[in-house]
Amino acid sequence: MIKHTTPQRTDVRKGPEVLGRHYALRCPECGGFFEDDGLALESPCCQSAGLLRAIYAGSSLSVGPPEDGLFRFRDWLPVRRQLPGSAAPVTYRSTALAERLGLGNLWITFTGYWPEREAWTQTGTFKENEAYAVCARLPEKNDRVLVVASAGNTARAFAHVCSRHDVPLLLVIPEFALEQLWFYEELSPCVKAVAVQGDYTDAIQLAGAVSRIPGFLSEGGARNVARRDGMGTTFLSAVTESGTIPDHYFQAIGSGTGAIAAWEAGIRLREDGAWGDRTTRLHVAQNSPFVPIIKSWEMQSRTLLLGSGQEARGQIEEIGAKVLANRTPAYSMAGGLFEAMTRSGGEGYAVSNREASVASEWFGNLEGIDPSPAAAVAVAALMQAVEKGSVHKDDVISLNITGGGIRHRKLEAPYRLRPARTVGVGELQDEDALLELKKLFA
Ligand SMILES: *Cc1c(COP(=O)(O)O)cnc(C)c1O
Ligand SMILES: [Zn+2]
Repeated sequence: MIKHTTPQRTDVRKGPEVLGRHYALRCPECGGFFEDDGLALESPCCQSAGLLRAIYAGSSLSVGPPEDGLFRFRDWLPVRRQLPGSAAPVTYRSTALAERLGLGNLWITFTGYWPEREAWTQTGTFKENEAYAVCARLPEKNDRVLVVASAGNTARAFAHVCSRHDVPLLLVIPEFALEQLWFYEELSPCVKAVAVQGDYTDAIQLAGAVSRIPGFLSEGGARNVARRDGMGTTFLSAVTESGTIPDHYFQAIGSGTGAIAAWEAGIRLREDGAWGDRTTRLHVAQNSPFVPIIKSWEMQSRTLLLGSGQEARGQIEEIGAKVLANRTPAYSMAGGLFEAMTRSGGEGYAVSNREASVASEWFGNLEGIDPSPAAAVAVAALMQAVEKGSVHKDDVISLNITGGGIRHRKLEAPYRLRPARTVGVGELQDEDALLELKKLFA
């Protein structure tokens, strides 16, 4: 049941309290609060394409013990239970890379697999944080099949978490990404994959069609508040470890979800008041030649400037960090990346494969762990920013290493997920064909 109130602006804090949970969802259009059913991806009251936001009753953040994993940040996660086995991002102050770049206050937040630093993210990237938050948000009696489209890291993360916690999952992935489905545990039969002979966008389209069939459930990507706040834990980790809201935040982006999440976390932390009142500048990077967000931002265009499908496909083929190749990012809508960049005075960076590979080597040699290809793009952006003078020596800088420690882990992984079906683009056009997919879960 959806309760809906329309409080005055000054009533903002009352939302969750009135509803008797530790959080409520807020409509981006009218500002009204409603109770979360664990599934909502859009406002029940207003026809708005904007992003729902979770508003938490506790206005000051208290962090739980490390053994709670990601859920040490549960005060500010839109979840109804705490799942065992998760790992929180790890933040530490850089010495070697910081020195090389001439920076005095560089804080690295690492999500990945790096036992020496107590970083235990099994699937190697911050997509696992999203997967834990999304699954912990679902109603306990959920029997619908979660549908997730992914070109790699998201698929691996959701497969791992859903398998461990008995959440039925259908992955829709482009065939080229099958090699990303490596695991350290045998997966439960509640996880199935369909491979598409096409690209990531084809997979997104098929996933959209499947999730409209009764019994399936769209995960929602950036629209899912759990996904954003699950990713926002990176920023919470950075701030609680360094003791202050940073001046700058660097991340490689595809959908923009992670950067929006950092921005939203910054708003909450400023309201909290215990971490200073800085407004963090978002520095976002993409891998050239596929840089639609960077180009649009430089032109100050709220409409995403994407070029033709063929052009985009060609650019995507060239880039090394494939997980950044999202053609439908959360950029234009209310609460999306364009707004976050505008409010934060953000900057965009186009990083070539060459720059990314130099950055990867620097990071590996200086910090002692391999960054994922996307994370190397963020390191290269920081290098550009230092060069340009966009950051200063004593600024507090948060660098989000969104994935790492994967190289060996991938090679040594004993298990794979093989697709239950492989389909051509357009093969599953009619509803009867889509319904066939339901039988996979019979
Ligand atoms: C998905 C991903 C990104 C990009 O994050 P978005 O939230 O989609 O912008 C960056 N790095 C890694 C390792 C990823 O898997
Ligand atoms: Zn509304």
